[in-house]
Amino acid sequence: MVAEIKQHKHASKKPCWVIKIGSALLTADGLGLDETAIASWVQQMASLHQRGISVVLVSSGAVAAGMQRLGWKRRPHALYQQQAAAAIGQMGLIQLYESAFQKFDLHTAQILLTHEDLANRKRYLNARGTLREVLNLGAIPVINENDTVATDEIRFGDNDSLAAMVTNLVEADRLVILTDQEGLFDRDPRQYADATLIREVVAGDPKLEAYAGDSGSLGRGGMITKIRAAERAARSGACTYIVNGRTSNILLRLYDNESHGTRLYPASGRLAARKQWLAIHMQSHGDLVLDDGAVRVLRESGRSLLPVGVTAVYGEFSRGDMVRCIDNNGKIVAHGLVNYSAAEACQIIGQSSERIESILGYVDEAELIHRDNMVVF
Ligand code: GLU
Repeated sequence: MVAEIKQHKHASKKPCWVIKIGSALLTADGLGLDETAIASWVQQMASLHQRGISVVLVSSGAVAAGMQRLGWKRRPHALYQQQAAAAIGQMGLIQLYESAFQKFDLHTAQILLTHEDLANRKRYLNARGTLREVLNLGAIPVINENDTVATDEIRFGDNDSLAAMVTNLVEADRLVILTDQEGLFDRDPRQYADATLIREVVAGDPKLEAYAGDSGSLGRGGMITKIRAAERAARSGACTYIVNGRTSNILLRLYDNESHGTRLYPASGRLAARKQWLAIHMQSHGDLVLDDGAVRVLRESGRSLLPVGVTAVYGEFSRGDMVRCIDNNGKIVAHGLVNYSAAEACQIIGQSSERIESILGYVDEAELIHRDNMVVF
């Protein structure tokens, strides 16, 4: 049987925006962090929060802030020096956000992630659980790459791809990339006077890469990483907005549906995107056999799978792996990402979720597979 789960998660109902601010915008002419600009974005984010939007901030600027603290005039070439600068600068960056959000009675939560964290299913689930709870508590997550152990964004992306991964993680509705340009142009506007701003385009449209290549901005944090970020964000159904962060009240203008910069939207709907993701990228690690009641409720009521509806467990899987849900005749009913390992699942199947804690000594989630992580066939 499957019962309705009390959603302690950040409501999939509540709109969620991931807002990414890059280094070029955050620094005042290369001289440390632009506190005035940051105060303005924070004010807008607080206002969005007040209007019922879950706000997730992905901010670069650690290297730049560190360079200022160290009195370095030029960005060092050595990666370990950039990483050291990031470690020193992250303190100032987070301090600034914390005090700016405090003015609006909002807590901030520092979250440092790497791509590997999100590629690993167990870490992915842990990060997702933390982020959802931080949002649930009404705080603002302030995310950066963990530059001490990873270098992807320092070298290539300036956090564009991290922001897209976070968008997938929290299943945000929008990814807003604040840049120092008006948006995406068909040619480099600094070279061609007749360059046209692209207002709306499907994320992943093949012509986009050609445009980005034309503009010669293939480098770190150039348009190409933003286009790929939009493509990735679209996989979980999010629209990406590439806009000029210096436009006054830009976030509130977007909230008011004013047209600014470039909007990249997903070609397929959210459900289709998630189905593709589950179907294409995941290999099954085991089977859960469901009783008839569970099969019916999964198919008809769109709810999560609870341990009580499972009669047998096959295979070796860990938390976060994909498993198949099958009926008594071995027919596949659903695919999903499981919240407990095979050994744990064996102990809790057939039991009500309230008993998980007394059986295992802890409880990660009330459901064996959350509905958001399941595709029913
Ligand atoms: N994570 C890096 C930072 O916060 C990325 C941006 C950069 O390389 O400047 O600084």
